[in-house]
Amino acid sequence: MIPDPNHSATKQAQEPTPQQVKDALVRFQSAFLYYSSGVVDVPTQAKMNEWRCANNDMDKGQPIPPASKKEIWTKKTLTWKIVNTPNTLSEAQIRSAAHEAFDQWTKATGFQFIESTQIPDITITFYDVPQSNLRIAGSASKPHNSHIILDKNQDWAYKSQAPMGISLYHTLLHEIGHVLGLPHSFYR
Ligand SMILES: [Zn+2]
Repeated sequence: MIPDPNHSATKQAQEPTPQQVKDALVRFQSAFLYYSSGVVDVPTQAKMNEWRCANNDMDKGQPIPPASKKEIWTKKTLTWKIVNTPNTLSEAQIRSAAHEAFDQWTKATGFQFIESTQIPDITITFYDVPQSNLRIAGSASKPHNSHIILDKNQDWAYKSQAPMGISLYHTLLHEIGHVLGLPHSFYR
């Protein structure tokens, strides 16, 4: 790890000021096109409680740009592989959800996606994420050796199965966007 001079061990963690909290809330609210009250109102609280993607929303207060030309895939056919399965869905259901999500991206972008048993371009792995209050369901790395990481202990759902769970198809749709170099889509 490269030491960050702004986060040295000698620098004490400081509580944010009320103004910093308000500014952060306004940024959060405006990102989701909510009324920017700067206070934790009911819709803001509900949005904060949603399970979500761990990729950064912003970089130093600025929206994250799409991946640069240097970073994006130069090939148009990408391989993918499901590494393991979570507790709530069968392997067949996961593969089905993944095929459906990749097919959607083929329609939108022209990329071809092929399931592979070899070392793939994109891995989809369910990790045993320790319990945290961050409410993170998944994340994905940028193009080239992309890893989509999903919380193994989530109540993953696909189609009619577990209707109260989190939709694996929609989560994969979102995370594949990151793999293709896109920042978050805030509006689902
Ligand atoms: Zn995301």
